[in-house]
Amino acid sequence: MYNSRKKPAEEVPYADTAIWSCTNDGCNGWMRDEYSFDEVPTCSQCQSPMERSMKSLPVLADTGFGYKKMTKPAPKAKE
Ligand SMILES: [Zn+2]
Repeated sequence: MYNSRKKPAEEVPYADTAIWSCTNDGCNGWMRDEYSFDEVPTCSQCQSPMERSMKSLPVLADTGFGYKKMTKPAPKAKE
């Protein structure tokens, strides 16, 4: 029988993921690159500029908009 509910996350695979991390010492703010919409996002906690980094994160299993954006970049056909 088809179960539309997501399976419980028992064994979540981890992968190095592109993120933005806060440049402010003492602030541990960061966000996934695929969820950032600005060229250089600012920290949501202290408004400092952020820098690209890598972090080992659980792999996103569902096709959220961020994941879709990452795997299927929109072609720039028109100006
Ligand atoms: Zn910050």
